[in-house]
Amino acid sequence: MSTTHTPPSVRLRALVDTVQRNERTLRRFQDVELQLIRAQDFPSLCRVLLDYLPREFGLEGVTLWLNDTLPLLHELASRHGSSANRQSNETNGMAASSLKTSREMGDAAARLFSHGRPWLGTPAAMDEAARHACFGSDARPASIALLPLATNAQPSGYLCLASDNESRFAPGMATDMLERFAVIVAASLDNVAHREQLERLGATDALTGLPNRRYFDERLREETTRASRYRLPLGCLFIDIDGFKPINDAHGHAVGDRALAMVGACLRKQTRLGDTIARYGGEEFAVLLQGDLKDSLVVAERMRAAVAQLDLRDTDGADNGARIPLTVSIGVSAHAMQQGADLDGLGRTLVEEADRAMYKAKSAGRNRVVTLVV
Ligand code: GH3
Ligand code: MG
Ligand code: MG
Repeated sequence: MSTTHTPPSVRLRALVDTVQRNERTLRRFQDVELQLIRAQDFPSLCRVLLDYLPREFGLEGVTLWLNDTLPLLHELASRHGSSANRQSNETNGMAASSLKTSREMGDAAARLFSHGRPWLGTPAAMDEAARHACFGSDARPASIALLPLATNAQPSGYLCLASDNESRFAPGMATDMLERFAVIVAASLDNVAHREQLERLGATDALTGLPNRRYFDERLREETTRASRYRLPLGCLFIDIDGFKPINDAHGHAVGDRALAMVGACLRKQTRLGDTIARYGGEEFAVLLQGDLKDSLVVAERMRAAVAQLDLRDTDGADNGARIPLTVSIGVSAHAMQQGADLDGLGRTLVEEADRAMYKAKSAGRNRVVTLVV
């Protein structure tokens, strides 16, 4: 190898340059990823992907293709498709970024991916059918990166990053950062799709802005099915505010309502993308976690500690706005989901066990996390 003849200082310089370049790229990715995770609805997600991303990365355009054979995505595309494109073209000043759903494009991209890895190269390296499906009669970019997006191992779409520089995306380049980025895009897409479904179904609780029990029960069915298909564990938390009636009694319902909203927002902050949190009833919340008992206990403890830190005050009250302590008792359960199991039964058991564990936490003194497993 020629490197044996390169002076160490030169090799070191090259290494430092590479590290610095990678760090800059990573930071830019992280910035876009943060905006994706924060996107609350599909139009915001499209703004990040179709406008912000090409601007920040100096791309000629970005195409988001959605697999609209999936009901949730079909709904998204038909509600927002044309407006997402119009919006993007207006702010970009070019027609290069767009949202698409054509079946041919999806099939063409699927042929290019191997083992779910991104495809990098020039349009000339694609077969004619793929080229036609992707670009039609539009101007062809010099090189592209096609990133497959998947939710629960099902293809949900792909992202096509187009460059006017032929060497920008080439076969054999490292794709770890692009793969990581694709995972975040797919999870954010899934997240906004579910949020919009919630709104459509009127399954949101007005006081806390969280999904309600009906939605939770629906997600429980979906999550047990998903977990059993991939033999993954599923965790459940049952959370009940301690001594809530005395708070209502001493400070009035308005302060009680404020406490509920604060606790709801606090709990939501502690969940991860893909987890489900709902207001289950009066001052009770329920959470579904993609993880095992150990993961669930960690999240539960984080939630308990975060609620105990909340600063609730009744400034109109007789006690001169003294801090009102807020705590929760949390019951935790988790099950490994097996294929062919009675999923409805398992879902019910999961919830009942978390509920029973919550009552154990109450009788053990409140403000604690308890599981039935010892
Ligand atoms: P524990 O520690 O055993 O959980 O005691 P607790 O006082 O929290 O439990 P209890 O079940 O006795 O009281 C729950 C209270 O929550 C009673 C009910 O009036 C109140 N509550 C339920 N929904 C709402 C609401 O939307 N707003 C307000 N302000 N209060 C509510
Ligand atoms: Mg209760
Ligand atoms: Mg209570």
